[in-house]
Amino acid sequence: MISKILVPTDGSKAAQKAAIYAVDLATQLKASVIVMSVIDKRSFTGQTVPAAKTTRHLIAPVEDYLREAAEVYTGEIKKLCDKNAVQSKIIITAGHPVEDIVKEAVRAKVNLIIMGSHGKSALAAAVLGSVTYGVIHKDTKIPVLLVRK
Ligand code: ATP
Ligand code: MN
Repeated sequence: MISKILVPTDGSKAAQKAAIYAVDLATQLKASVIVMSVIDKRSFTGQTVPAAKTTRHLIAPVEDYLREAAEVYTGEIKKLCDKNAVQSKIIITAGHPVEDIVKEAVRAKVNLIIMGSHGKSALAAAVLGSVTYGVIHKDTKIPVLLVRK
């Protein structure tokens, strides 16, 4: 029984396509949706070294800017849910996309994750994007549905 679906999005066209698919399925199943966007801290801080105190004042505005953008594209998906009378909520975190997506899926006990095969990256040659690859290789029992770009 699928009653709760997690829909991670980076605001890309591929993620948008996956979200439309997810809302359509949720409508048919009368399931609720969690729309999730992770502000990828790796993109603007050191990957392994935490940001130095001296650079934090430079990072904060970048994070705010990315959060505002995420509010817009997650909000659009929420509107689509509202239009279809699908119950939904938005979660925006800042961290590592794979870790945060899987953590939320487990925490909220979703029955399904629906995401794009690809995202924002221009490296379209890869079979799968790294966030998708990471999520499907995490050791959880939660099914993942990939929508091809
Ligand atoms: P890569 O980032 O590895 O260069 P890519 O951008 O083409 O490649 P992914 O990042 O794996 O591919 O994106 C695939 C899907 O993962 C997206 O369609 C979206 O559903 C989800 N996703 C990617 N990044 C995020 C994020 N920061 N927050 C939430 N969901 C994300
Ligand atoms: Mn990506």
